[in-house]
Amino acid sequence: MRIKVMGCYGGQLLGFHLTSFLVNDSILLDAGSPTEALTLEEQHGIRHIFISHTHLDHIKDIAFLADNRSLTQMTGSEDNPCFTVHSLKENLQTLREHFLNNDIWPDFTKIPNSKDPIIKLSSIEPEVPIEVDGITVTPIPVTHPVPCTGFLLEQKDVQFIYTADTGHTDRIWQVANAQPNLKGIILDCSFPNDHEHLGEISGHLTPNGIAQELAKLELLGKVPVYLYHMKPETLNIMTVEVQALNLPNLRMLTQVDELLF
Ligand SMILES: [Zn+2]
Ligand SMILES: [Zn+2]
Repeated sequence: MRIKVMGCYGGQLLGFHLTSFLVNDSILLDAGSPTEALTLEEQHGIRHIFISHTHLDHIKDIAFLADNRSLTQMTGSEDNPCFTVHSLKENLQTLREHFLNNDIWPDFTKIPNSKDPIIKLSSIEPEVPIEVDGITVTPIPVTHPVPCTGFLLEQKDVQFIYTADTGHTDRIWQVANAQPNLKGIILDCSFPNDHEHLGEISGHLTPNGIAQELAKLELLGKVPVYLYHMKPETLNIMTVEVQALNLPNLRMLTQVDELLF
């Protein structure tokens, strides 16, 4: 399994991309920034997008990925197929009503036609695994102001967990503890410690918050934990706060990271 970071920040600034991870070249976990990180050809390799929730920083590039393949798609090129957006059914409803609604953006689920559109929507259910391109993906509900799931990924005998945006939560740690060969976890860490209240009301974690969460991980220190969703403007202070936790096998992701298992 190869996980390439497209963007790992909870804010967009020059040099800082929004959340998006590319798995084995064809599966995207959230769509904050792939069009800023990939060539057109690489973008066309994306066949499946798993959306954790509908906040704009996780869905924005669904719009531009679709647009970027619309011209080739309309000529009927076979090597430029559609992509499928997988998410909870309430999230797909939100995408239909508020995003791909012909007001905010064209409805690419009907372009070039309803029978063979550029975007297909497919609903997933909490804790029900589905297999795409050789990877089994299981959505795990987490704690956020809107419906949100992290994802357990499994390829052969290797597992990986992406928590997506979350505040204090339990189920994903139970799932992590049940995996026989867990190779890593990507975990929310959005605000510095003095913004703990903001984290609580917005469903995010601080360095102190992740220390409380990681106490629930039985394999702490044995499984690498990668932090994402840091606010770029507070990255320096958060780096100091994360180091001060002195927890083993824990670090912030960077935008050029590529994780291989
Ligand atoms: Zn969010
Ligand atoms: Zn977010």
